[in-house]
Amino acid sequence: MALELRPNCEFCDRDLPPASTMARICSYECTFCADCVEKHLHNVCPNCGGGFAPRPIRPATEWRSGLSVAKQPPSSKRVHLHYTEEDIARHSARISSIAPELR
Ligand SMILES: [Zn+2]
Ligand SMILES: [Zn+2]
Repeated sequence: MALELRPNCEFCDRDLPPASTMARICSYECTFCADCVEKHLHNVCPNCGGGFAPRPIRPATEWRSGLSVAKQPPSSKRVHLHYTEEDIARHSARISSIAPELR
């Protein structure tokens, strides 16, 4: 199963196209930009509480048959958070001091 490659940051709604080096994902593929992960989320996913990693870039070139960004195009469905900023701040404060591998 391939990553969806969601099109936007769930916090600030900026575009995160498939080749963006700013995209960060959690293990559930909750997707945010690097700025929001650092400044607002403090490496705590507001949905699941996990940490983030850079989203890998799907190759534009079909190096192997059937595998490229054209063959498995990115999702066009924009995703938005359902939590208030206050709730997210509390959630981050509670979890950010715990290393992701210990959460
Ligand atoms: Zn953002
Ligand atoms: Zn998550």
